[in-house]
Amino acid sequence: MGNRIAYKVENNLYINLTNRCTNKCTFCIRTNCKNAYGYDLWLDKEPSVDDVIKAAGDISGYSEIVFCGYGEPTFRLNELIETGKYFKSKNKKVRLNTNGQGNIINNKNIVPMLKDSLTSVSISLNAPTAKRYQELCKSQYNDAFEKIIEFGKYSRVYFETIFSVLDILSKDEIEQCKKIAEKAGVGFRVRKLL
Ligand code: SF4
Repeated sequence: MGNRIAYKVENNLYINLTNRCTNKCTFCIRTNCKNAYGYDLWLDKEPSVDDVIKAAGDISGYSEIVFCGYGEPTFRLNELIETGKYFKSKNKKVRLNTNGQGNIINNKNIVPMLKDSLTSVSISLNAPTAKRYQELCKSQYNDAFEKIIEFGKYSRVYFETIFSVLDILSKDEIEQCKKIAEKAGVGFRVRKLL
């Protein structure tokens, strides 16, 4: 069954706001498989604020609410802000998983606008240089890599923020990414490719 707006991963509830993305990552689960975590996340229609709240249902049992899905959540800025506020008002931890390009997508610094909607931000850095980023992630924006690092610096002012990379990178590349995270003042995590 498609059109899955909310889905459970371990003890967290993931929210799927959109299938749109500015990247075409070589490792993206959207292109590599039909299902993510056993759910078909293709949306015929992007959900409204009410749709998300209804799909989430009773959230009392979840550790964390995570905006993730099959696309870049910051494409749906208003829905992200409003539903995040709702989840936070229920005393939940709320995380944004993002490709870090939200400021280019929305043509403004969106980070302060999210301050009442999120508690943490996980940004996919994915590469140690702009050239490698474009090889792996094929952003439609040539300055994406610099903007991602900038997004992390803005984000750490308000939220617990990390840069993440996948374990498909070499040891050397992972080390370089770690240094970029340290320099930007954010945390760092190596994720396993699904
Ligand atoms: S940023 Fe995420 S959703 Fe977008 S193409 Fe890359 S892996 Fe897929």
